Amino acid sequence: MRRAVTLLSASIIALSAGAASAQNAKPRNLILFVPDGLRGGIVTPETAPAMAEIRDKGVNFKNSHSLFPTFTMANSSALSTGHYLGDTGTFSNTIYTGYTSTPAGDTVVPFIENDAVLADVDDHFNGDYLNEETILKMARGHGLSTAAIGKVGPTLLFDHTDRGRNTIVIDDSTGGKTGVPLSDEMKEALTKANLPLVTPGRGDNAKAGDAKTPGTTSANVAQQAYMADVATKVVLPMFKARNKPFVLVFWSRDPDGSQHNTGDSLNTITPGINGPTSMAGIRNADNNLAQIRKALDELGLAADTNIIVSSDHGFSTISKESKTSPSAKISYDDTPKDFLPMGFLAIDLAKALNLPLYDPNDKNARVADDAHPKAGNGVLGQDPAKPDVVVATNGGSDLIYLPGRDKKLADRVVKALLEQDYVSGLFVDDKLGRFRGTLPMSALNLKGKALTPNPSIVVNFRSWSSGCEIATNCSVQIADTVLRQGQGMHGSFSRGDTFNFTAAIGPDFKSGYVDPLPVSNADVGMTAAQLLGLRSPGNGGLMGRVMSEALPNGIVPKMAEGTMTSKPAAGGLRTVIKFQRVLSTRYFDVAGFPGRTLGLDASDAKQKTAGK
Ligand SMILES: [Zn+2]
Repeated sequence: MRRAVTLLSASIIALSAGAASAQNAKPRNLILFVPDGLRGGIVTPETAPAMAEIRDKGVNFKNSHSLFPTFTMANSSALSTGHYLGDTGTFSNTIYTGYTSTPAGDTVVPFIENDAVLADVDDHFNGDYLNEETILKMARGHGLSTAAIGKVGPTLLFDHTDRGRNTIVIDDSTGGKTGVPLSDEMKEALTKANLPLVTPGRGDNAKAGDAKTPGTTSANVAQQAYMADVATKVVLPMFKARNKPFVLVFWSRDPDGSQHNTGDSLNTITPGINGPTSMAGIRNADNNLAQIRKALDELGLAADTNIIVSSDHGFSTISKESKTSPSAKISYDDTPKDFLPMGFLAIDLAKALNLPLYDPNDKNARVADDAHPKAGNGVLGQDPAKPDVVVATNGGSDLIYLPGRDKKLADRVVKALLEQDYVSGLFVDDKLGRFRGTLPMSALNLKGKALTPNPSIVVNFRSWSSGCEIATNCSVQIADTVLRQGQGMHGSFSRGDTFNFTAAIGPDFKSGYVDPLPVSNADVGMTAAQLLGLRSPGNGGLMGRVMSEALPNGIVPKMAEGTMTSKPAAGGLRTVIKFQRVLSTRYFDVAGFPGRTLGLDASDAKQKTAGK
């Protein structure tokens, strides 16, 4: 009885702390600034002064987490809804949708960083594939002004069902055929500010290069200068004139674009993503943030505006080396000798399973023996229209789907993957049963209320450090991508990819506070909703938590650490997940086969077994 009373009063305190900001009749403004692909440990007063200032004067979330698979759309779905990927169904950037998407190029594995493809996927899944309310949709429902400006794909996801009717959307496609339309009010305001109605292209920054030609040496300056100008010269003054609270999302393609396409390190691991092009990309994003803060000051909005800076994921340098892959022993006209080709996972699986390989990005044409699929994706089976296996290629991890949900086939796929030195950790759909050497997908919050098909197996690729003071700043990973060794990628369970940058400043945040607790991009979504006084019933229950410890008078919960270990496979390999926990919320630091993932040492294999 006494214990029950104590618990009850504790929950009343928690409730009143939570209610404090919701009781504000008028919430503060919120700016969510996302520097795409900014590593958690790379920010210093020299590399990124505006971000360092927010971190050091506001809240420093030094134990921050991107959600795995550490890709852009997956994490945009978490930032925009507060839910984990098992609920949002946004398992990666390229997913299997179970139907042929025409705007994606007649393929069953669309790349969803595209406004027309997002509209198509929405149409297919009852008008809202995400199946969770986004913060911008809720905010405009409450009468707030809303805008999302930045990189095509993740930007639109913040209010993807509105198509520009109520929320301002400016991205790469604005003014083009597939772009979200501009309102007359926006057209007029842009014209008055001498800004074009069409977003400029990326120019040289879009140059990926090839095996003989280095990629770009220019950051995405011109395109983002336009977007920053739209934010500061048009949108913020418009919102001030409306005299209502607002939410502005600014999704900076840099440093992601410059790190991916970097031309500083052709076919070599160093400097990789630590060359001058990547650093210029980081500085470019920082300059955009500085411009936005300056405009807030000049418009007299700073005192009433909270700013959260949260990158979607970290980053790593690409390696294409494997001693075990049959695909690396074939010579291709566009791939250096002995390097893994794009699509190596699909090629190796087709060989191991003795199934024909077809290219879903080439109208299901048969892939020749000395070729690789055009975008790396593959459909395997006798009939490409009814595939046994679908491989959705993404980068530092890939997704495998077994549309027939055949358990024996799943067992053969798992055994084939365990043979490859580029694999580090396998996660299998709980519905297929348990397989030695693997952990169930539910352990990563990948099983929830998703409308899109659940992957059958998530394959994480190997990662390590190339050797530098802060290991997560020089993570290297095997990546399934058209990009080259020495360029940049993410998507793995390396701590280099899961350690993103998060900081916040403003009237509803503590000042000069270093937060030791783990936080994730799902928490950022939940905290944003809380600050804006928004509540969503939510379709799924895989939600982040409000980062109460970072709010004045907020409760500071306790944290714990844990490890989950699979049973060993025949050769002894075990998938291990290292995680942290706050209340019932789990944060995944790293996972894989110990010794094959940066942050997961060989000694981590000896931890307790799952369920014991
Ligand atoms: Zn990204």
